[in-house]
Amino acid sequence: MTMIDDNLQWVRERIWQACQQARRPAGAVSLLAVSKTFGADAVRQAYAAGQRAFGENYIQEGVDKIAALADLRDPAIEWHCIGPIQSNKTRLVAIHFDWAHSVDRLKIAQRLSEQRPADKPPLSVCLQVNIDGGPNKAGVAPQEAMALARAVGALPGLRLRGIMTIPEPAPDFASACAVHAQARELFDALNAAGLGLDTLSMGMTADLEAAVQSGSTMVRVGSAIFGARAPLRSA
Ligand SMILES: *Cc1c(COP(=O)(O)O)cnc(C)c1O
Repeated sequence: MTMIDDNLQWVRERIWQACQQARRPAGAVSLLAVSKTFGADAVRQAYAAGQRAFGENYIQEGVDKIAALADLRDPAIEWHCIGPIQSNKTRLVAIHFDWAHSVDRLKIAQRLSEQRPADKPPLSVCLQVNIDGGPNKAGVAPQEAMALARAVGALPGLRLRGIMTIPEPAPDFASACAVHAQARELFDALNAAGLGLDTLSMGMTADLEAAVQSGSTMVRVGSAIFGARAPLRSA
């Protein structure tokens, strides 16, 4: 067993426990392993331990890793872009990734749709929502999410799957749950309007229990699987 094997086991256990606690079925929450800043070897180890879905923040870094791991096809590895997407990077995302969680503007969505290769299934997309109104944060404002979701849902090259949030760190479990619950309410409201979403992407290493408690369907976990990252660099 490698360290990554051990860590993955532990994270799966945490998700399982959190589902128990929330009285949700064990399979209700999927795990996205966030491999940003870690090399292709680390991803290969996690894949060997049964992990299939990986998240990358920096697009060029992700594209390089996708190329280095192109042999992992059976079963297929799945790549999620979870970092900021500038206009000049949409083509790389549309061509190489399976999902984008960080769509917060119609213009970016339109480019992704146009640039999605015809021989691939539509790109799965989540709208990033600035759920707690953090001043420097990406994401559509919650009150604008409905209009954006309708517009994005109509684009032929995309399949709108849900919403993604990155709330500010919360001081305790209850306040973390309160913010995540707002995202869940928005998710439910979008579905009540007929948008047919299946993915509420929220919860990271520090707050996955609170996210699962509040109805997350996909947690994005990096450091608990791969270890501490070097200090952040810009995207
Ligand atoms: C880095 C990152 C994560 C994972 O964070 P950890 O705290 O390492 O689990 C999840 N989501 C996004 C958008 C990230 O940038």
